[in-house]
Amino acid sequence: MKTSKRITPACAKCSVYKCRNPEIKAEYPIFCPHENYADVRKATIKEGWFDNPDSKKTNRVCEEVVKDGRDEKGNYNWCRIKELIEYSKRMGYKKLGLAFCVGLKDEAKILTDILEKNGFEVVSIACMSGAPTRDEVGYENYPSASSVICNPIMQAEVLNREQTELNVMLGLCIGHDILFIKYSKADVTPIAVKDRILAHNPLGALYTSQGYYRKKLYP
Ligand code: SF4
Repeated sequence: MKTSKRITPACAKCSVYKCRNPEIKAEYPIFCPHENYADVRKATIKEGWFDNPDSKKTNRVCEEVVKDGRDEKGNYNWCRIKELIEYSKRMGYKKLGLAFCVGLKDEAKILTDILEKNGFEVVSIACMSGAPTRDEVGYENYPSASSVICNPIMQAEVLNREQTELNVMLGLCIGHDILFIKYSKADVTPIAVKDRILAHNPLGALYTSQGYYRKKLYP
């Protein structure tokens, strides 16, 4: 550690990325956690690659999936759904959970079909399963709203009871996804996050943030 007073990490503002290319002739920035949190670096390497068998396996399988998804020239060939299948197989999972938004019910059906054809048992649960009415939870009834609301905690708890080994999130609302992750006993991976405007591709707003989306996003 170079300084006694740690500076708030700000990797997003870095221009050197020496962590990725240690050989480059540049100093680590003063806000660099790779340098300033050397103790955490050491402890997490120990945890993730040596001491914790689950984390060690996840790291190893992640590495394999990235490697095997490339051709001999190094080009990437596997999309995220293919990676999900390969990751789950190599982790030895047989039973996957799928927590989805009813707004993506068609996509949930297709994804289930693909996963089942690849040999997995899929336990799927829609966001409206166990939906409380607005009256029931003391929420306002307003004209454009559905009379019922999502129950992400129920989605997680049903998958917990079903003893799924990995839970896939498909299009849950912001906040509901946070609750789902909080209550899920199995590991969780998102296959898509909900973006009602941008076809579930929130990065679209970033790609146009200096143009069309500028006024919508900057204060
Ligand atoms: S860890 Fe350090 S070198 Fe890497 S991106 Fe963050 S600030 Fe930059």
